[in-house]
Order: sequence, then C-alpha cells, then structure tokens
Amino acid sequence: MVKAIVGANWGDEGKGKITDMMAENSDIIVRFQGGANAGHTIVNNYGKFALHSLPSGVFYDHTTSIIGNGVALNIPVLFNEIKSIVDKGVPEPKILVSDRCQIVMPYHIAFDEYEEERLGKASFGSTKSGIAPFYSDKYAKIGFQVSELFDDDTLLPKVKKICELKNVQLKYLYNKPELKEDELMNTLHEYRDMVKPYVCDVSLFLDKAIKEGKTILLEGQLGSMKDPDHGIYPMVTSSSTLAAYGAIGAGIPPYEIKQIVTVCKAYSSAVGAGAFVSEIHEDDVADELRRRGGDGGEYGATTGRPRRMGWFDCVASKYGCRLQGTTDVAFTVLDVLGYLDEIPVCVGYEYEGEVLTDFPVTWKLDKCKPVLKNLPGWKQDIRGIKNYEDLPKECRDYIEFIEGEIGYPITMVSNGPGREDIIYRESALSK
Ligand code: GDP
Repeated sequence: MVKAIVGANWGDEGKGKITDMMAENSDIIVRFQGGANAGHTIVNNYGKFALHSLPSGVFYDHTTSIIGNGVALNIPVLFNEIKSIVDKGVPEPKILVSDRCQIVMPYHIAFDEYEEERLGKASFGSTKSGIAPFYSDKYAKIGFQVSELFDDDTLLPKVKKICELKNVQLKYLYNKPELKEDELMNTLHEYRDMVKPYVCDVSLFLDKAIKEGKTILLEGQLGSMKDPDHGIYPMVTSSSTLAAYGAIGAGIPPYEIKQIVTVCKAYSSAVGAGAFVSEIHEDDVADELRRRGGDGGEYGATTGRPRRMGWFDCVASKYGCRLQGTTDVAFTVLDVLGYLDEIPVCVGYEYEGEVLTDFPVTWKLDKCKPVLKNLPGWKQDIRGIKNYEDLPKECRDYIEFIEGEIGYPITMVSNGPGREDIIYRESALSK
C-alpha cells in the first residue's frame, strides 16, 4: 500500500515528524520531489536532526530510504547527511538513489546566487540551493541523470554543450568566472564514485515492493502553496509539491496511492517572499508565536531565517487539502497555541468588498485582507495528552471548527515534536 505525506500550506507543517512516526509501520520511504532547499526537523531517541536530502524514515533499521527520480539530488549534501547521522550513532541506513534522478551541479548553486544578487530587492528569497536553475536545466534537457555518470561518452559532449551555453551567461550577464570542461568532468567523476553504492532502478524496485504488499510512504517537501501550478506562482518552488506528483517522482502508478495524509499546522508560517493573507503584522504578536512555535522557534531548518508568522488560514488550507486529494489531515503543533487567550483564525478573504472563501489566483491575493474570527483559547499545556476526549473543550472546539471550515477529516492531532506526541481521532468526515 502506498501512502503520501504532504503539506497543505507553505511548508514547515511538521511533515518530517509525521513521516518519522508513520515510518515505524512502513517498509520504504521515498522522497519524490524538491531538493536540499527545505529541511525536515526530527526529534527522536538519537537526538534532533535537520534532514535536507534523506527521507525522514532513515532512523529505523527496518526501512529502505529512497531518493526518487523527481528529486533534485545534491550528491555531496546526501553524502554528508548520511555521514552525520551515522556519526551520531544511527545504524547505517539502507539507501537507494534512482538511476533516473538528476543531479544538482555546483554551477546550479552559483547561478541561483548570481540571479538573486542580480534581482536584488525583487529576488525570490531563494535558499540558494540551486533548485530553480536545476529544474530549468532538467526541462531544457541539459541536466545530468545519475545513470549518465557511468558513461563518459554521454557526459563529455554534454559537458562541452553546457560550458558553451552557461559561459555566455556567466561572462555577459553576471560577469563571473566561467566553467571549465575538465573541472566539470572531474566533479562528475567524484559524484559517480560517491553515489555508486546506492544507484538503483527505483521504479522497478517499487513495482516489486507493491506486488509484495509492502507499505511505502511518499514524503513530500514544502506544501500546496509552493506548487508551481497550483501555488502562489511565481513565489513557488520548481517541482510539484502535490501528492499526485508522487506517482511521477517515484515512478509508480497513480492509482496505487491509497492514503494521502495532508499535514496542516495549527497556525501558519511561511519562508521567503509571496502572498500570505493571514500574516500577523503586529511585530510583538508575531515574535511571540515565532519564539514559541515548532520545537525551539520558527526558524528555517536550512537557512535559520526567521519565518513569517500568521494565523490558521481556512481558505488556503481548504484549497491546499483539496489539491492534495486529502484522505486524512494531520493537524500539528497545536500545543504551541496553549498560551493565547483568544486565537484568531482566518475564515475568509476580503476582496473588493466581497468575502472569498475559495482561494483565488495570485494577483488577487495581494489585494485580499484576512477576515478573522476569534476562537477561545484553552490556556493549558496539552503536551502528554493521549486521548482526544482528554483535550480541553476549547481545544477540541478549535480542531472541530477548523475541520468544518476546511471540509477534510482531521484524524491525527500532534501535540508535541516527538514520535509519541500524537492523538488519533475518529472523524465523521472520514469516508
Ligand atoms: P516539515 O518541513 O513539514 O517537516 O516541518 P519542520 O521540520 O519545519 O517542522 C516544524 C517544526 O515543528 C519542527 O521543529 C518539529 O520538530 C516541530 N513539530 C512537529 N510537530 C510538532 C508538534 O506537534 N508540536 C510542536 N511543539 N512541535 C512540533
């Protein structure tokens, strides 16, 4: 059975924790999109980890962790990540890398930096991990597939072509040092030697696993708002963040995905620029939520930058859940809200005198104001509670109000960063 774990919002919803938790009863965990530009934070018996490349299941010795073909693979980052977790006492993980996965090259990272520098104030707020230049090259058909590392006859002409093309931009647009063919070939050979032990025909491997009845998790990165088609274009990421893309980015049939767990955080946060209607603009209010948020504050796992903070956005989350094809909502980081007397929730967008409850196109978002409804807080620490009925009434009301607004069943409530901080719940909305 294949299950997907994806985000409804701008990312950082706590997918890593949910994946780590669900991995306990799974055999295989697959990353199917994105690169080392976002991170999952996981707290478990071995310590606290920020993973950028590896799937969140690497901490179990019964699971196989897979980098699917849809990922932007940064080979040295993957290598160092494996080393760093093994150095902390985690058993050597079983890792497979798709032979059709493409490689983030050092020049992708350089171009990402140069372009953000060139754009100045109008920049995208990129993490400068090379993701946009990588996917541009993939679709321009000048990327390197992992399998190609093993054939110099394929590599050499491609390297020549890339140098020709990139050096024009480097010289005339950015005024930066040019690429050299022999250096690129050396890098590719180094990458070949690093990745060799892990290379696999992943689609074939997964086909067999599905036939054997194995449980497979597809782990998404970021969330619906960052999807290039359905998100807040152009302030989006460069690969699809939707569960549907899991089929493509892992190489499996779409109808095999039977469960789609969409992770929603009990409040909102966003990194980088872009529309964020429910953003909190009172600095002290935002600062307090940021400081108390997540596990140790809402700061980017990759960049350490402070995240933009907002109230829960029913309009964006309803849309985000719909685009994911949600079967279950995992509602996370609820414990953080225990300090508030009243909790505002964004229930609509005011646009030119009208209240919208369906998420509009991006240019309209910039003209929307949030319609907030205050719900009573529960003023209590809910960490450690195991049964839904034991949550304070105001807290259950908060969950049930949001469930009603978004229209998808909240079947899991996360009340702490650890694996065991989870409350399962029956929902009338479950089909
Ligand atoms: P991801 O990219 O979606 O995996 O999200 P992050 O890794 O940024 O996770 C958000 C942060 O919230 C991490 O620091 C997690 O450890 C933490 N976290 C996840 N679930 C909970 C929760 O229920 N309560 C609290 N307090 N923190 C949580």
